[in-house]
Amino acid sequence: MATNILMPALSPTMTEGKLAKWLKKEGDAVKSGDVLAEIETDKATMEVEAVDEGFLAKIVVPDDTEGVAVNAVIGILTAEKGEKLDAPAAAPKEAAKPAAAPEPAAAEPAAELPAQMTDLRRTVLSFLLSADRPMTAYQLLDRLRAVWPGAAPPTVYRSLEFLREQGLIHKLELSNAFVACTEPGHHTSSVQLLVCQNCGQVTELEDEAIAEAVLKAAGAVGFQPSVRHVEIDGLCAECAAPS
Ligand SMILES: [Zn+2]
Ligand SMILES: [Zn+2]
Repeated sequence: MATNILMPALSPTMTEGKLAKWLKKEGDAVKSGDVLAEIETDKATMEVEAVDEGFLAKIVVPDDTEGVAVNAVIGILTAEKGEKLDAPAAAPKEAAKPAAAPEPAAAEPAAELPAQMTDLRRTVLSFLLSADRPMTAYQLLDRLRAVWPGAAPPTVYRSLEFLREQGLIHKLELSNAFVACTEPGHHTSSVQLLVCQNCGQVTELEDEAIAEAVLKAAGAVGFQPSVRHVEIDGLCAECAAPS
């Protein structure tokens, strides 16, 4: 069993930090409570403790890396030493071997998987949850390749489609970007996404009256809207406030 080690948050407002130093090497045995790594922000330093015992199979984010997003995968723990990483991808298994043979052909990890929450999909979701603005599929792919070197665009698109079907994320059609839903699974009707053109922040509204008005007005001209949300560009309260 492989467990992702995630970048912790030192405070509720922290969005990223620095991975200062790993105190364990790849292949080291780890006991619950062992300090794995040190994290820094400009305000504090924290130790990342193992919550499980096993082996540090892979260091994903190396020492001295600035700007690591909260919840990003920084390393992978396995129960058995030398265990193949049972991530959904073929690629990480290869990448986890110490003397990696030639780079494996780009795998498409999600290809034969049933529709379920896989590590890969969870990782995509964690990137969106820790991002402070919408991310495009290619930005997600870049991030994902640090963990799943074989990840290809179709992999990301399938993950995003899955997460959208589950009501965990929204797609911004205008900017072709994705954002984590703030009320996952709670939308009963149409949702309105207020997109700040300055800071990128997305605010969600669920106003029945707006949804009904859109349906009614569209219906009046015989149009059946297929998109379940309305996007409204503008400035968020913070950006609109005079400085
Ligand atoms: Zn939502
Ligand atoms: Zn703003």
